[in-house]
Amino acid sequence: MTEFTPTDRTKVRRKPDRGKYDWDTIYAILDQAFVCHVGFIADGMPIVVPTNYVRVGDKLFLHGSTASRLMKTLGSGAPFCLSVTLLDGIVFSPTATGHSVNYRSVVVMGKAEPIEDPAAKLAAMRDFVEYVLRGRWATVRPPTDQELKGTMVLAVPLVEASAKVRVGFAVDSDEEYASGAWTGVLPFKWTPGEPLRDPRGNQSVPVPENIQRYTRPQ
Ligand SMILES: Cc1cc2nc3c(=O)[nH]c(=O)nc-3n(C[C@H](O)[C@H](O)[C@H](O)COP(=O)(O)OP(=O)(O)OC[C@H]3O[C@@H](n4cnc5c(N)ncnc54)[C@H](O)[C@@H]3O)c2cc1C
Repeated sequence: MTEFTPTDRTKVRRKPDRGKYDWDTIYAILDQAFVCHVGFIADGMPIVVPTNYVRVGDKLFLHGSTASRLMKTLGSGAPFCLSVTLLDGIVFSPTATGHSVNYRSVVVMGKAEPIEDPAAKLAAMRDFVEYVLRGRWATVRPPTDQELKGTMVLAVPLVEASAKVRVGFAVDSDEEYASGAWTGVLPFKWTPGEPLRDPRGNQSVPVPENIQRYTRPQ
């Protein structure tokens, strides 16, 4: 198998030609980012909360304080939906309604499983750090037992997932292009700025090469 089977819930109906289900596309989007927005029902109300994730094989891991509503709700087995979006450009069209954005986005639906085994939890915490910056784990203090106890780690099996990808220019008819407005795409790239040294840090440590030249995916 190299792709997710679209289900009733994950089949892209609006602009279905933009829908993708193959692992390569979906994993590439997930691995570029590390922030998702999780939608779930809490106290009868829908809520969407941004949080970090890491993808390890066919799973996403989420982590957070054991006191967090997000973690408690998902940890109880409540169904949820999460999405990840990469903005690639603004699409300027000759018409007001033809404006759009180029993007790559993923929607995942499912239920999470709490990771209880301390060794597996520690391994997931390592994955979190390494996913953001490869090689970082070896340079920092690992979590204490107390810190691990206060952290909930959830595994989300990637089973129901879809991607939607928009590329290219506006799709207005040729007649619309007679207007005087500039049309085209303004590309957007997510690039890191200059590292800022923490004044409380060890001033003799040079900025590591992998931070100076940070790229994603790691
Ligand atoms: C940055 C960005 C900006 C957007 N702006 C707009 C906007 O202004 N107006 C607008 O109508 N739409 C916009 N979209 C598209 C929007 O995400 C939906 O695809 C669209 O609104 C259709 O929604 P629907 O519920 O009818 O989709 P349906 O096609 O009915 O959704 C069915 C299933 O398809 C999958 N799916 C749908 N959309 C996505 C997606 N984006 N990524 C991954 N899987 C998906 C999900 O699994 C979903 O459950 C934007 C998308 C992005 C990423």
